[in-house]
Formats: sequence, structure tokens, C-alpha cells
Amino acid sequence: MVWPGPIPRSRLRLAVAYLAVIGLILYGAGYGLFGLLMRSNWSALESEVETLAGTLHDSLKPLLPAEARPSAQLAAVLPGLCLVEQPCPKPSTLLPRHAVSITDSERFYLRLLDRRGALIAHSPGSPKAGAQDPNLTWMVVAGEGGERFLQYAIHLHRSHAPAQAGAAPMELDWGYLQIGRSLRGLDAERERLWWATQTIVGLALLVAGLASWWLSGLAMRPLLAAYRQQEQFTADAAHELRAPVANLLAVVEAHRALVPDERTATRDMLAVVHGQGKRLSGLITDLLLLTRLEGSEAAAARQLCSLPQIARDLMEETSEAAAAAGLQLRLVGGEADLVVLGVESELYQLVSNLLLNAIQYTPPGGEVVLSLGRERGQAVLQVRDSGIGITTADQQHIFDRFFRSDPGRSRRQGGTGLGLSIVAAIVHRHRGEISVASKPGSGSVFSVKLPLAG
Ligand code: ADP
Repeated sequence: MVWPGPIPRSRLRLAVAYLAVIGLILYGAGYGLFGLLMRSNWSALESEVETLAGTLHDSLKPLLPAEARPSAQLAAVLPGLCLVEQPCPKPSTLLPRHAVSITDSERFYLRLLDRRGALIAHSPGSPKAGAQDPNLTWMVVAGEGGERFLQYAIHLHRSHAPAQAGAAPMELDWGYLQIGRSLRGLDAERERLWWATQTIVGLALLVAGLASWWLSGLAMRPLLAAYRQQEQFTADAAHELRAPVANLLAVVEAHRALVPDERTATRDMLAVVHGQGKRLSGLITDLLLLTRLEGSEAAAARQLCSLPQIARDLMEETSEAAAAAGLQLRLVGGEADLVVLGVESELYQLVSNLLLNAIQYTPPGGEVVLSLGRERGQAVLQVRDSGIGITTADQQHIFDRFFRSDPGRSRRQGGTGLGLSIVAAIVHRHRGEISVASKPGSGSVFSVKLPLAG
């Protein structure tokens, strides 16, 4: 057999198909989950930055100098910020106590812009590029060394003391405040989650691969059984055909070697050739019939068939064989009115095979009884003989193709080993049941139940 055979190849294909489907689902689910986690981390970060910006804005509002420009007054409000075009102060506390969390210059930066968007002050180390447009509320800014920052911009207002006592303080547009939050932690988290997803999905795929292989094996099991049966059948058929063909060839070879006047020997040889030819022809007919019976049902035309009529016809047909075998042949219940919807030729074949088997396997002096009856809406047809019987072990196999309890005897008597397989296939096609009851030495009973028409 060429490796891999059709069955392993199909199993592999099925397993790959299973794995592809499971893999797609796993990858979809894995990356969906990954996306959701990243989305919720991002939202948490945005709300953190937004809250900080709001708090800082409210704290700075009353302290901001009147002019939005780099001045000593501004440096006093936000010590630690670098004023534009002035050297940066030594790092100390960046912001007053209310903004403790954003004094962490590793994670945050601050930028102050005037109303036109020109930079006034910034925390040391804040990114230079891409941060100038104050109208963009959210943006991702690339810092030095490839670090990314999530930047949020809001309008900065200054509260102006009211001119008259008791009046509400006025809010003046002062400029913009930009807060950047480092995405280093989030990027590291993304990386970790990405690899975790890859590893989990990879491992799950490995397990799914093994499961797919096992499942495809399960799915292929009935196919494998059918395939093996087919292989066995082909081997058996070849074996059965080989013997008669070899005999035929041997006889023909011998015939060619004869001197012309040996007429009698020729006649004997021709008789052997004829016998073997008939056996071959019978085998081929049975094989074809079996193949047709196991094929599509639509091909055969169904009609109402009278079982008593079929039984009477076959009693007549087989009476000669029964007499030759020294047996008594009887029909019981032939007058009953039993009609089934089926294929007449197949029903003839069914009864004929059972009767001929009974005659074949019953020694002279015995009896073969064909009986017809009715049981719970079904026709019951029985063939009873007082013959050699069948052992319990063989009863399990007699409906298998080419099975014979005694191959030598069956072949000698012209049996093909397909008779009961054909009977079983016909019963099956007529939605019936067949059973056998037998005891070696005391005969056998084959019972067939068929649904009655109407
Ligand atoms: P075969 O051509 O050998 O008769 P079948 O398929 O008709 O093939 O039967 C299979 C085997 O079942 C036979 O070889 C025989 O051993 C057994 N068998 C069938 N019918 C009978 C019977 N009436 N009595 C005893 N044995 C039987």
C-alpha cells in the first residue's frame, strides 16, 4: 500500500480542517480578549490623566500670573518647570503638594502654552516634537529614546478677583495646559499580554491539534470498517475466482497437449471446463446481484407480491432437487393471503436461496418445510430443515460474504458462499428481519419477517 493510504490521508485532512476551524476560533477569542484588556487599560489611563488635568487646572487657576509669558512670577507658581529660553532649574519638587502624583517626572510631563499656542514653560525632559498643537485634546507623542506619551490638552483659565466685593470671580482665558503620561508601563503590559496570548493560544492549538487527530480518528472509524470490509470482499472475490479460472486453464492446457484422436478424454475435459465455467458464471451472477442489492434502491420497481404464490412456484421448482436428495418437501400455510410490496424477482431469489440451502445441508431421508404465517401485521416465512445444523459460533457469520462452515462441502455442491448474504440484503431492502435458530445435528430454522402491504 502506498503511504499514506486513502484512510490516513483523509484522517489527516479532517484533522487539519478541525484544527483550522478551532485555530480560527481560538485566535479570534484570544485577540478579542487581548484587545478588550488593552482597551480597558487605555480607558483607565485616559481617565487618570483627565482627572489630574482637572485637579491641576483648578489648583493653578487662582495662582496664575496675569500675563501668560515666561516670568519669575510663573516660576514661583510652578517651581521646577523650565521657562522657555531660560536655563532649567535643578530638579526639585516640580509642583505644589496638590499635584503630588504628577511630580513624578519619570511618568508625567507638563507644558504651559499661551493663548496662541506658543510654549511658555515645560517640565524638564518633556518631548519637543509633536506637542505644539493645543487644539488636539488627545494625542500620542513620541519622546526621547522612543518612549511614548499620552498627551491631554485643556484650556487654562485664571480666576480674576472681582472688582466689587460680593461679585462672583471672573474667569479669564489664560492659555493651555498639556499633560503627558508615559505609556512605558502600558507598552510593557501590552508586550506581556501579547506574549501571554501567543503562548496560551499556541498551547491551546497544540492540545486542539491532538484532540483533532483523535476526533478525526473517531469519525473515520466507521469508514475504516467499511473500507476494510471492502478490501476483504475484494480479496475473497479474487480468491474465489482464482480457483475455477486456474482449473479452466489447466484443462485447456491439457487439451492442447492431446493427440487428435483422444476424443473421449476431450469430452471429459470439456465437461470439467463446462462445470468450472458454470461455477464462474454463478459466482459472477451472485456478485453482480449483491452489488445491485447494496446499491441504490430507486432502481428496482416495487409491486404487490403474493408470498403464497411465490412459495407454491418455488415448491414446484425445487421439488425435483429435493427428490434427488431423498428429502420430503412440504408447504404449510400456502393458502394464506399474504401480500407484500416489493420486488418480485428478489423475493423469489430470497425464498429460493433458503430452500436450496435447506435441501443442500439436509442428509437423505430428512424433511424441508416451508411455512407461511402472519404475526402482528407482518408476514412470517420460515424454512425449516432436519439437516446438519449450524454451530452457535458459525451462526454469527453465515450472513457474511463467502462464509462457509465447511468450505469443501459447499464448493463441491456448487455453493458460492454468497447465498445468505444475498438473502440478508434482500430482507434489508424490504425493511424486514431475518433470524436463524439451529442446533448442530438437529436442523435449522430460518425465519424472515416482512411488512405486509397496505
Ligand atoms: P453456500 O453457497 O456455502 O451455501 P450460503 O451463504 O448460502 O453459502 O451459506 C453460508 C453457510 O451457511 C454455508 O456454507 C453453510 O455452512 C451454512 N448454511 C446455510 N444454510 C444452512 C442450512 N440450512 N443448514 C446448515 N448450514 C447452513
